[in-house]
Amino acid sequence: EMFGQLTSGLESAWSKLKGEEVLSKENIVEPMRDIRRALLEADVSLPVVRRFVQSVSDQAVGVGVTRGVTPDQQLVKIVNDELVKLMGGEVSELTFAKSGPTVILLAGLQGVGKTTVCAKLAKYLKKQGKSCMLVAGDVYRPAAIDQLVILGKQVDVPVYTEGTEVKPSEIASNGLQEARKKNIDVVIVDTAGRLQIDKAMMDELKEVKRVLNPTEVLLVVDAMTGQEAAALVTTFNLEIGITGAILTKLDGDSRGGAALSVKEVSGKPIKLVGRGERMEDLEPFYPDRMAGRILGMGDVLSFVEKAEEVMRQEDAEDLQKKIMSAKFDFNDMLKQTQTVARMGSMSRVIGMIPGMSKITPAQIREAEKSLKIMEGMIEAMTPEEREKPELLAESPQRRKRVAKDSGKTEQQVSQLVAQLFQMRVRMKNLMGVVEGGSIPSLSN
Ligand code: GDP
Repeated sequence: EMFGQLTSGLESAWSKLKGEEVLSKENIVEPMRDIRRALLEADVSLPVVRRFVQSVSDQAVGVGVTRGVTPDQQLVKIVNDELVKLMGGEVSELTFAKSGPTVILLAGLQGVGKTTVCAKLAKYLKKQGKSCMLVAGDVYRPAAIDQLVILGKQVDVPVYTEGTEVKPSEIASNGLQEARKKNIDVVIVDTAGRLQIDKAMMDELKEVKRVLNPTEVLLVVDAMTGQEAAALVTTFNLEIGITGAILTKLDGDSRGGAALSVKEVSGKPIKLVGRGERMEDLEPFYPDRMAGRILGMGDVLSFVEKAEEVMRQEDAEDLQKKIMSAKFDFNDMLKQTQTVARMGSMSRVIGMIPGMSKITPAQIREAEKSLKIMEGMIEAMTPEEREKPELLAESPQRRKRVAKDSGKTEQQVSQLVAQLFQMRVRMKNLMGVVEGGSIPSLSN
C-alpha cells in the first residue's frame, strides 16, 4: 500500500477527536502532534513539516462549527486541502513547443529509472498521438545505450545513437537535426547519470541544454530517497535550471517524503510519476488525488480513468450501445471481469475505490476468487445463453445444468443471473436513460 504508514499515522490524529464537539486550541494539540510525527516519519523535510503543521493548526482553531460535520472530518478536510496545496495544487502539464519538435531533456542520477522513463514517456506521448524519438546521450555507459535501444524497440520508437565516442552535446544536436528532418513531434534526450552530483556532470548538462534549447528539462528522482529527492531537484534547478521533476518508484514502499517535499522545497513541480516497471506505468502527478490516497479516502477519479482507458481498448462504444439498449449480456460481464483483472492486480485497484483502502490481502484474495467463480459459471453457458440471459432467468433446468457443468450450486448461478439484470438497470441509470429497466424475478 503506497504511503501506508503515513496514512495510518494520520488516522491516529483523527481518532483522537472522536466525541469532541468542536475543534479547539486544546483538543488539537494531540492530533497535531500525530500529524507532525507522521510527516516526519514519512521523511518530509522538517521546515516543510513545521510550516504545514502551523498552517493546519491556525485553520483548525478558526474553523467554527458546520452542522453535520464532526471535528475529525473537519480536520481531515483541512489537512487534505493543505496537502494538495503543498504538492502544488494543480496538475502541472508538460509544455510543448509551438513549432518544430518539442525537446525534453532528461537528467538524473544513476539507477533512478531515467532510461526507463525515456521509453515510458515516449509511450505516454505516442498515446496522445505524438511521434517521438529518443536520443542516447549517456556515452559513459555503453550498457545504457543498449538498454535505450531495447526499450525503444519495445515501445516502437526510433532511437538515435552515435556510440560512445562522440560528445553528448554533439549527439544531442545531431539527433535534433535528424528529428527535424523526420518531422518528429517530440525528441526525448537521455543524458549521463552519475552516482552522485559532480561538476563534470553539471557542466556537460549545461552544454547539452545550451545546444538544445529544450522545451522541458526534467530531473528524474527516486521516490524511495525521500526528502533527498527534493534536495536534488533544488540543486539541479539552481545549477542548470529545470522545468520540473519526474518521480519514479512510487509503487515501492516509499514513505511519501519526496512527493510531499519536492514542490515546496525546490519551487519546481512534479510533472509525472512512475508507478511500476512496465512501460505503461507513467502518469501525470495529480496533487488532489495523491492527497486523497494519502488520507486513505480512495481515489475514484484515478480509478475511473484507468478503467476508461482499458475500456477504450475494448471497443467501449460497442459496449455502450449494448448498455443503452439493455443488451448487456454475459459476454460483456465476462469482458468486464477480465478488464478488472487486467487493470493491474486487484490489490492495486482496490486501494483506489473509496472506503476500500482498509481491505486486507485476505479479502482481496476472496474477491479474486469470486471473479474466478463468476468466470467459471459464464464459461459453462452456451453461446446463446450468454447472449440471452433471459433464457437462464426463465429456465431452472438451464440454471441447473450450468451449475452442474461449472461445479457450482444452483443458488450461485441464480445469484449471478440476478446480478446481471441488476447491472443492466444500474448501468442504464448511469447512462442517464430515463426509461428504467426492470429486474425479472427468476421463475422456479
Ligand atoms: P537509470 O540508471 O536511471 O537509467 O535507471 P534504469 O532506467 O535502468 O532503472 C533502474 C531500475 O529501476 C530498473 O530495474 C527499472 O526497472 C527500475 N524502475 C524504474 N522505474 C521504476 C518504477 O517506477 N517502479 C519500479 N518498481 N521500478 C522502476
